[in-house]
Amino acid sequence: MNILVTGGAGFIGSALCRHLATNPDNRVVNLDKLSYAGNLASLSSIAALPNYRFVRADICDEAAVVQLLRSENIGCIIHLAAETHVDRSIDGPAAFIETNVLGTFKLLQAALKHWRDLPEASAACFRFHHVSTDEVFGDLPFDDSSFNEQTPYAPSSPYSASKAASDHLVRAWHHTFGLPVVLTNCSNNYGPFHFPEKLIPLVILNALEEKPLPIYGAGMNVRDWLYVEDHARALALVAARGSIGQSYNIGGASERTNVAVVQAICDALDGKRPRSNGASHRDLITFVADRPGHDRRYAMDTSKIERELDWRPEETFESGLAQTVDWYLNNEWWWRPLRDGIYGGDRLGKLAAV
Ligand code: NAD
Repeated sequence: MNILVTGGAGFIGSALCRHLATNPDNRVVNLDKLSYAGNLASLSSIAALPNYRFVRADICDEAAVVQLLRSENIGCIIHLAAETHVDRSIDGPAAFIETNVLGTFKLLQAALKHWRDLPEASAACFRFHHVSTDEVFGDLPFDDSSFNEQTPYAPSSPYSASKAASDHLVRAWHHTFGLPVVLTNCSNNYGPFHFPEKLIPLVILNALEEKPLPIYGAGMNVRDWLYVEDHARALALVAARGSIGQSYNIGGASERTNVAVVQAICDALDGKRPRSNGASHRDLITFVADRPGHDRRYAMDTSKIERELDWRPEETFESGLAQTVDWYLNNEWWWRPLRDGIYGGDRLGKLAAV
């Protein structure tokens, strides 16, 4: 199968490319424009493989995408390219509308042209897999409720609204034009190669440098956490075997308050890299003014993907977090240039949310 991954130089896309390229029956073409969040260093382990190719392009460039789909004889598109950081969507929403809404529209148009030109047998196997987020569903009360695939959309932030719009476009291209699509909505990912502005890497790296560990509000917002390699396995499975026109919720069954996540990181570091003064890293926790419109709680009902595709996460939050902390301790070559490039002290307080 020839697979086009969009956004394959990002956090989840690179995990997916690494996962797919280990199967020699796959040929993986990674299309990414290399925004601030794209990093080819995350793909160094597969860059020389004969079944992997990187192409620098923008999903908004429909003509370039059509040409690539044809020349590479693509049979499956897994679409991850997006602007993804909620805080950035509040500071500057335009890029989110441009890539997440307009870019998805352009990609759908390119996919439709390519699909319609395919020979019948190839067209019958073709898939457009759209990768989305649990944030499209809005937020939940602090109880045991969860989002399922029928939950109505109620996005809160410019980021989640732009992702919701893209989900609607993908469904419309299926219902109106017949494009064979599948969708997934996933909870918060964490793991190796996560850009250092996101909560878990930010806290690990600030703690290593004895800097404050900023948490929005009282830190009681709840997120569900999934180890990124479990997500990559789920995406490959849905792309290959998900039912056309269907969506699947993906999650880690690991709900945690933000403050509990930060405390768990502190405790892991206390064991692995104790502070020189002997104090706990928890002493570095600092509560800062809350993010506007901050969703209270997200949780996913994942019974559909478990029942239909037999997918479950392999990592618990504890095992995944331990591996993630170890990875950041051992891979300064990857994160140091990014961290030095993006940090001024004044942004510190704004970056510790999810
Ligand atoms: P990321 O920000 O790490 O990576 C996004 C990638 O897309 C980057 O490599 C960037 O260069 C590329 N890109 C951006 N605009 C582009 C454009 N116009 N053309 C081509 N490439 C472009 O994102 P991520 O965290 O890996 O998320 C990937 C996808 O998964 C997104 O669609 C996101 O909404 C979704 N998602 C993320 C999470 C999460 O916790 N990170 C959870 C659920 C769903």
